[in-house]
Amino acid sequence: MVTAGKEKLLVIGGGAAGMSAASRARRLRPGMDITVLESTGYVSTALCGIPFYLAGKANFEQLIHYTPEFFTCERNIEILLNTSVTEINRSASVIKYENILTSGAGEMPYDYLLIASGGKAAWPNIKFPREAKNLFTVRSLDDARNLKNYIEKNNPKSAVIIGIGAHGIALAEALLERNIKVTMIDSATPFGYLSDEQRGFLFDKMLEKGIEILTCERILGAHGDTTLEGLDTDSGKIIGDIFILAAGYRSDGALAEDAGLEMLHGAAIKVDDFQRTSDFNIFAAGDCAGVRCMLTGERIIHSTAAVANKTGYAAGGNICDEKTRFPGTVRTKIFTFADAVVGSVGLSESEAHGFGFPYSSVFVKAQEKPGYAGGGDMLLQMIFNTKTGKILGVQAAGSAGTHALVDTAIAVITTGMKLDELSNLDLSYNPAVSNAYSPLHYAARKALKNL
Ligand SMILES: Cc1cc2nc3c(=O)[nH]c(=O)nc-3n(C[C@H](O)[C@H](O)[C@H](O)COP(=O)(O)OP(=O)(O)OC[C@H]3O[C@@H](n4cnc5c(N)ncnc54)[C@H](O)[C@@H]3O)c2cc1C
Repeated sequence: MVTAGKEKLLVIGGGAAGMSAASRARRLRPGMDITVLESTGYVSTALCGIPFYLAGKANFEQLIHYTPEFFTCERNIEILLNTSVTEINRSASVIKYENILTSGAGEMPYDYLLIASGGKAAWPNIKFPREAKNLFTVRSLDDARNLKNYIEKNNPKSAVIIGIGAHGIALAEALLERNIKVTMIDSATPFGYLSDEQRGFLFDKMLEKGIEILTCERILGAHGDTTLEGLDTDSGKIIGDIFILAAGYRSDGALAEDAGLEMLHGAAIKVDDFQRTSDFNIFAAGDCAGVRCMLTGERIIHSTAAVANKTGYAAGGNICDEKTRFPGTVRTKIFTFADAVVGSVGLSESEAHGFGFPYSSVFVKAQEKPGYAGGGDMLLQMIFNTKTGKILGVQAAGSAGTHALVDTAIAVITTGMKLDELSNLDLSYNPAVSNAYSPLHYAARKALKNL
């Protein structure tokens, strides 16, 4: 311990994980000295709400769950905004920081350190004019505000989104609300975990809304300097008024890596089930940290707000000697486009193959509720272990009820339910919302015939 009186917890990053951890630690240790260092001007941000803000459906203030004043006054947590941690000195138990506005720098000792630095946009391996004023990444509230201000000032008519994933699709939908024509480009076939039918269902919805979709199309170069004018691709040139990079996300574990902590896949911080890093007094949580896959036991990078909140909570508890084990993820993903919901839980077919599971899969198309009640189609793929009968993965695309189906599948997979149990699971039925047989029942029954 380096401090004489109170124990000192420093938290790097005031996002979902950092603020959950700080709040949990405060609850358990009223006397602890807790400081959060955050490089932007906000803490407790709702990044997931950014597409709503860009579409004009939410205002900026709604993207902040709690203000810094709330944490200071109500929870006695010191918040240092616009303060970036630049180094962790583990042998001295000290961090170095820099104030972004004043360029002032300093050092701060810690007894416990939580790294919750999140992640950042991954840039493809192409020379982009990164400073171009019409090229955006959308990973922070400042990014979102810059993009919105630019749109309102310059009234762009067209946008090119680089990367066809959940993030890019959410941004595309927001731009459509502003009558901006959207082209999306991806160098591969997007959503490799979906079946062709499910991907087709989603793409049809996007095409109906006027999105131009270019897949398996590589970007070879970019034109412009202060303004990005166009992209050279395999089949020609794409031009647009604005360009948004949504080609992936990388955990930001740089501080930890520089400090010699063990890393996962060279990007995320390796932690145990209690969020402890390879240094006993340093914890990590959220997007910057790895997480255990409950199906395979391997440590993976799975960046979601849902996991960030829970791993932050666990870290805050464990810093205060609680033994809170975060059991891991079942690789849950969900996103929407227009009236379509797309979700995945567990392993895809190629992952089941890669991990050497004895597996097979079934595909069913069924209505979420009766036609007379307006039921839309759900396309469901289920992957199951042919030896144990356990469900390994479910991918689904369809109408609104797909969300409930995905959540049910999460519980099924997490508890290791088998096909015969699922085939008779007493799920809720009322024609306004569901059918007497869920698509999950149909899939389980079909799979049982293949066992
Ligand atoms: C547009 C958008 C939509 C999303 N939609 C969803 C969704 O629908 N569902 C979902 O589950 N997830 C969604 N996410 C992802 C989700 O927001 C993240 O998984 C979540 O925010 C991770 O929380 P975190 O605390 O780990 O990281 P963050 O929320 O990124 O917080 C990390 C913080 O650390 C700060 N920081 C970094 N380095 C330093 C440093 N050196 N010194 C000081 N501070 C530092 C950063 O400024 C940042 O505020 C979305 C993200 C975006 C951007």
